[in-house]
Amino acid sequence: MKIIKTELFVFDICYREPFHISVQTTSKKQGLLVKITTKNGLIGYGEAAPTKYVTNETIQTCKKAFLQYLFPAIKGLEADDIATAHKVMDKAIKGAHSAKTAIDMALYDIASKAAGLPLYKYLGGKKDKIQTDMTISIKSPEYMATSAKKFVKAGFGILKIKLGTTPEKDLKRIKLIRSAIGPLVKIRVDANQGWKDYKIAAKLINDLEKYDIELVEQPLPKNDFTGFKKLKKLVNIPIAADEIAQTLSDVKRLISDRSVDIVNIKLMKCAGIYHGMEIAEYCKKHNVACMIGGMCETKVAVAASAHLACANDNFKYADLDGDLLLDDKLVTKASIGLKNGWRTLANYPGLGIIKINEKILKSL
Ligand code: MG
Repeated sequence: MKIIKTELFVFDICYREPFHISVQTTSKKQGLLVKITTKNGLIGYGEAAPTKYVTNETIQTCKKAFLQYLFPAIKGLEADDIATAHKVMDKAIKGAHSAKTAIDMALYDIASKAAGLPLYKYLGGKKDKIQTDMTISIKSPEYMATSAKKFVKAGFGILKIKLGTTPEKDLKRIKLIRSAIGPLVKIRVDANQGWKDYKIAAKLINDLEKYDIELVEQPLPKNDFTGFKKLKKLVNIPIAADEIAQTLSDVKRLISDRSVDIVNIKLMKCAGIYHGMEIAEYCKKHNVACMIGGMCETKVAVAASAHLACANDNFKYADLDGDLLLDDKLVTKASIGLKNGWRTLANYPGLGIIKINEKILKSL
């Protein structure tokens, strides 16, 4: 199963509607698709979704990482020896986690196709579905309450509400949303680093408690380990780490500080499924639950994340709506589905990317 060919493509991505979070607004961007072919004719797909404010990567830095360092390094390796692939990639270039993720994903696609198994089964998993939230980005409180109602009507039982503006406005958003959707739907909140100080965050989080909030994600800036530690002692609502928890060493620090209850694992942050499993296992050993999340991603990366989450029972939370927020024109047929707010995986080998729309791909 030697790797004989590596290809890189770029494609345009449009959001269904402009997506506002505390740090940026996005309507359009580009994504990267990697295609790896082996000597015995197997093909694997992987996606890179570089996100500057999280991993400090762009389309251009990824392109350079692939063409100059990563593709030459993995040529000739056995596609199912993913541990070696990671060693070789780490030796070739530091960082470049989104780029490494795309290769990791493509290799797992190939390895599980060769085994004739859907990836979650190849990884030892037994369940084939996981309940996801649906994300509502920052707009006026009234607009967000109307969107919340719409998604609940569409079958979602969990909503992730983006916050991180002023405490008064954020509080009003949650008040209107809770009264619009009633008491049964779960609300989780993501501030995307938006509250600048642990005292401001603690006051707001405690004010939010009466609206029955499941968890608060990334309340403080991504380097504020001290703030997370202090905040945790002042609030009752569980705290989830996202931007602050990129790699296993970040997670080790947060856990030893007792700063978090939940770690949001995203493939693009930790360099793929291989390290994602490592982090999930570490968290499990220390009684910290995991969330599976993602960036702005098509079904390629969302499927990879869903397979990972179905393979490890420490993933108690899922935020797998990336493709649902987009007008995903890349994947025209896939084994990943959506049913009443659950992501489902059909019994199809590999990642289950059955058909790619090659017309929208451009070579790089
Ligand atoms: Mg987040």
